Amino acid sequence: MTAHTRTDIVVLGGGYAGITAALRLAPRHRVTLVDPREHFVERVRLHQVAAGQAGTVRPYRKLLAGTGIRHVTGRAAELDPAGGRVAVETGDGQRLDLGYDRLVYALGSRTRVPALIPAAGDAGATPVYTAETAAGLATGMAGRSGRLAVVGGGLTGIEMAAELAEAHPGWQVRLLTAGGLAPTLSEPARRHLRATFDRLGVTVEEGATVDDPRQVDADAVLWSAAMTPATELAAEAGLALDEQGRIRVDAALRSVTRPEIVVAGDAGAGWRMACATAMPTGAHAADTLLREARGAAARPFRLRYVLV
Ligand SMILES: Cc1cc2nc3c(=O)[nH]c(=O)nc-3n(C[C@H](O)[C@H](O)[C@H](O)COP(=O)(O)OP(=O)(O)OC[C@H]3O[C@@H](n4cnc5c(N)ncnc54)[C@H](O)[C@@H]3O)c2cc1C
Repeated sequence: MTAHTRTDIVVLGGGYAGITAALRLAPRHRVTLVDPREHFVERVRLHQVAAGQAGTVRPYRKLLAGTGIRHVTGRAAELDPAGGRVAVETGDGQRLDLGYDRLVYALGSRTRVPALIPAAGDAGATPVYTAETAAGLATGMAGRSGRLAVVGGGLTGIEMAAELAEAHPGWQVRLLTAGGLAPTLSEPARRHLRATFDRLGVTVEEGATVDDPRQVDADAVLWSAAMTPATELAAEAGLALDEQGRIRVDAALRSVTRPEIVVAGDAGAGWRMACATAMPTGAHAADTLLREARGAAARPFRLRYVLV
């Protein structure tokens, strides 16, 4: 039988990548999952939350039951790779110091918001929402009519505009995009999109660059222009990042700076930011740790997109 060294593994982030990695590692290692939320957030369903549909709530307590994974409800605040420690701020104001042998960095990404976005509740300002504040948008639109501008013609903006127009027929929905609509899609897919938007009454304004959401003529704005990786902690800890701010990794998904740290999901460099890549990178990052713990060489990560 192959000898297997049981190690302490801390997984930062309980999104698609982190949960996939944690569940794969748990049968063999002591796994601690750090995430400030009490439940797993299905980001790919946030457009439905914005449209007021109740999302499925999956508490970590249930998701992790029987796995042996310890969930620390807190925010990773500082990473010390040289000392093998991560500082976590818990909701009750405590600061926990967690030691690790190996670490999975899976803190994901969030909407990149311009500094000019007014704070929620600013008097006289047009309310500006993002995918992260989708529930607030649902409340703001419910039972009313008005004009909504969705800024961002990527897949998230498109999903948001379609879902919101369908859920709130009393609202006039415009999609503003700096370039063309859905440039990554094929021409037939774009034709289908335009036909759907026509049916739903969504107007599309291409070539519309918006720097300041306060200047958009609308009753509410949904900002969906770009995502930014959650890699501030990695940068402060000296991990090498690429030009998009994502963590540089080797073929086996280890940080090129600190190979004891593996990276998965939107925080890592070399693949698209998507749920569809977060789960396989989470699984592969875990496999790298599993193989190395039993003295085997890690394997290179390979991903092929079957549909584009
Ligand atoms: C509206 C919308 C629709 C989408 N639709 C699709 C789709 O149809 N298909 C697709 O493939 N992709 C889609 N995506 C993209 C997809 O959701 C992301 O690429 C995916 O969630 C990335 O997974 P992740 O595990 O890397 O990060 P995330 O899912 O972002 O998870 C990161 C986790 O880290 C936690 N965290 C953050 N900071 C800290 C910290 N300091 N300490 C501890 N924990 C922390 C967060 O609470 C979160 O649970 C969509 C995104 C949005 C916003």
